[in-house]
Amino acid sequence: MASSLPEPPPTLAVAELLLREAVDCGRLERRPAESLAAGLGDPCVRGAVLEAALDSKRRGHGNLVTFSRNVFLPITNLCRDRCGYCTFAKLPGDPSAKTYELEEIASVCASAVRAGCTEALLCLGDKPELAHRSHREWLRQRGFASTAAYLVEASRTAFECGILPHTNAGVLSIEEMAALRPWNASMGLMLETTSERLRQKRGAHYWAPDKDPKRRIRMHEEAGELGIPFTTGLLLGIGETDAERVDTLLVIRAIFENYGHLQECIVQPFHPKPGTSMHGVPALSNEDVAGWVALARLVLGPSMNVQAPPNLSPDALELLLGAGLSDWGGVSPLTIDFINPEAPWPALRELEARTEAAGSRLRERLPVYPRDVVARPELFDPRIREALRRFADAEGFARPRTRDRLEAA
Ligand code: SF4
Repeated sequence: MASSLPEPPPTLAVAELLLREAVDCGRLERRPAESLAAGLGDPCVRGAVLEAALDSKRRGHGNLVTFSRNVFLPITNLCRDRCGYCTFAKLPGDPSAKTYELEEIASVCASAVRAGCTEALLCLGDKPELAHRSHREWLRQRGFASTAAYLVEASRTAFECGILPHTNAGVLSIEEMAALRPWNASMGLMLETTSERLRQKRGAHYWAPDKDPKRRIRMHEEAGELGIPFTTGLLLGIGETDAERVDTLLVIRAIFENYGHLQECIVQPFHPKPGTSMHGVPALSNEDVAGWVALARLVLGPSMNVQAPPNLSPDALELLLGAGLSDWGGVSPLTIDFINPEAPWPALRELEARTEAAGSRLRERLPVYPRDVVARPELFDPRIREALRRFADAEGFARPRTRDRLEAA
């Protein structure tokens, strides 16, 4: 539960004490995290937070930073929710509303395989058939009772093209996840926030029943029960307080400690977009984003993969690397970021050059992380496990053949 009264900002001396303890213990607890969050506006305190987070990251990952080469497949941009910041979701009848046919999925995946991609990110709106009769009819004509059932076929189609699917379909039931598991290397759902306030009138999630934090936490737990490698994260700047951000990180940590299936935590800044109800809400500064990457690292500990999308902070890659980030996430040479279409991916060569100039070593991973590929084969369906043997090198990273093509990109 988030604290009701904001913590006062700490002095630099107090901040340094809190940080030393957090790095030595491998975790940062609620009260000190809220106190350090209150101090992020002070450049000296923020500098100390970043330095401690980098120390923690090096204890868990050395100088390694990873990324995945992916293709983004927006299976359908129809959605039953209406989040205050979203331009991805379209209404039926909108000229840009689209649901991919299986043949189109196969065609995009074939191009992606030729370009050396190993991950197909299947991303879509949440249960659009519940809100849109025309989508129900679209599914019915093709023999599917739900979008989730269609997604199983979409995942199978992508997998059979020779690429590893990672599905992010909003809130799914445990049965739906179990049906998707044989064709997906991993799945994901951004927890975004544990703030119930944002579901109230004028909140970012008022019109979004699937953004109920309890439902999303339950899905994380059910994915844990199924042993699915799972991606989560928080969305910064949609109206939540510092205490609610800390609470979100602590809930993510508790889920990870209970189930062990969370493979990464994404720290994603909200970008205001024209045409949305939140178009006038300012974006976080790069310094704030880096401060929260650092706090995520300190709360979650040295071994967690902490990710920030490079296209959302293109001027601040070095700042993020210095804040304890260990992964850039999926970067696509083929497709745009359909969630943030205004934010192009950096070229892979630029990402590599800037990562290495900042003292880190960039390596390509698969949609799943090397340590799970090598040490936890039980996380994967036998079919996926067999495919991983073909995709991965002995350490669990993407095979050199793929990496060579990547470096040539
Ligand atoms: S953010 Fe996701 S759940 Fe919300 S409206 Fe957009 S597609 Fe739907």
